[in-house]
Amino acid sequence: MRYVVIGSSAAGVNGVRELRKKDPEAEITLISKDKAIYSRCILHQYLSGHRSLERLCFAEPDFEDLYKVNWVKGVEVTGLDREAQEVILENGERTGYDKLLIATGSHTFIPPIKGLAGAKNFIGFRNIDDIEVLKEVPKKCSHIVVLGSGLVGIDCTTGYLDMGVKVTLVDFAGWLLNRQLDERAAQTYIDLFNEHGIEQHYGVGVSEVIQNEEGNITNVILTDGTDLECDFFVITAGVRSNVEFLQDSGLELSKFGLVYDETGKTNDDNIYGAGDVSGLSPIWPVAVKEGMIAASNMAGVPAKMTDFFASKSTMSFLGVNTMSLGMVTPPEDDDSYQVETYEKGDVYKKIVHKDGVIVGALLQGDLAYGGVLQQLIARKIDVRRVKKPIFEVDYSDFFHIADENYEFYYADR
Ligand SMILES: Cc1cc2nc3c(=O)[nH]c(=O)nc-3n(C[C@H](O)[C@H](O)[C@H](O)COP(=O)(O)OP(=O)(O)OC[C@H]3O[C@@H](n4cnc5c(N)ncnc54)[C@H](O)[C@@H]3O)c2cc1C
Repeated sequence: MRYVVIGSSAAGVNGVRELRKKDPEAEITLISKDKAIYSRCILHQYLSGHRSLERLCFAEPDFEDLYKVNWVKGVEVTGLDREAQEVILENGERTGYDKLLIATGSHTFIPPIKGLAGAKNFIGFRNIDDIEVLKEVPKKCSHIVVLGSGLVGIDCTTGYLDMGVKVTLVDFAGWLLNRQLDERAAQTYIDLFNEHGIEQHYGVGVSEVIQNEEGNITNVILTDGTDLECDFFVITAGVRSNVEFLQDSGLELSKFGLVYDETGKTNDDNIYGAGDVSGLSPIWPVAVKEGMIAASNMAGVPAKMTDFFASKSTMSFLGVNTMSLGMVTPPEDDDSYQVETYEKGDVYKKIVHKDGVIVGALLQGDLAYGGVLQQLIARKIDVRRVKKPIFEVDYSDFFHIADENYEFYYADR
């Protein structure tokens, strides 16, 4: 069997590992634009100098030998010939496959901002090459504006803060990490950023950038009229799936990205997809799991994606840890959701449930409760059955051991 995997990140690398496990004799080729294996989640530590390139790598040092994989690195796949079962490389060469895994992830979306076209001093924050540029920026620039306060924008901001560089943060959303946090949890970080001298503008977009004659941005104009001095502009306002090379392939694409089912299979029986390329759940654990599941199915061992929560993030910024799970802010016009909160000092906890089923949660300042929470979710416990305040539940309340067979059971059964 000849397997080809495109993409050497979370989904692709774990796909290769799983293929080798399930099919020891197969021929495996990995093709990637990336020349190295690295975790994008810790790129900010490379920016700040707290990690070397080697320490960003999440694969074994002898990955290629260990998994007997032919890794074609630094090469872009530019086309797909499904009839011939071949991928087409940028140099025109072709590589044949019996089964193909597309794990090409996504790229930074550059919004159509007035005045931005042709500017030299802006970049995204996604690939190692971006970070190489951003490392040099503070040597020449002192007014860095970061557009976007999602996980990526905040990584960029804190990476720079660790270097002693203060940026200005701009986001259309009302508060930072808008997808992961509610306003209360976000305020903790907003206050901390203020204390560290980070200028922040929320609820406003960028209406225009001003370029000088050399093609450098000098000012960023916000939709409320604020004029920000700017000598480098970092754009982290969303991503788009890397599916350009599939446009004429006949593979089904949605407006978000590559379409595949819970086994990873696309509308071609020999082609699978995994990770950010779907444009649906752009987080690391989903990419890893989808890569493994697709690979297992490619090797003939059935597996399905069954995760309940498409979004789970654990973050640590400026010494404050937060875990965010699922829907943390229920829709305003829907009173079928119930919300439980707990606040004491720096600790904030919140559970959102509907018909007794937890659909979202936030833990800030004390993640120890995460263990109980995961049990509540994994065991599908109806939180309405819990007799005491939900945040006082601990393992000893909830799980008891039946004397006769030493099995765990719930105290309220
Ligand atoms: C700064 C940053 C911080 C993040 N922090 C978190 C976090 O804290 N928690 C979390 O869960 N997630 C985080 N994420 C998201 C997480 O990194 C992604 O979900 C994950 O990397 C997706 O993995 P993937 O394998 O699907 O794609 P990617 O990581 O995007 O990798 C795609 C691979 O495909 C290759 N490729 C693309 N196109 C081609 C082509 N045409 N030909 C050949 N090769 C190609 C690329 O070179 C790359 O190797 C973060 C992302 C960023 C950028």
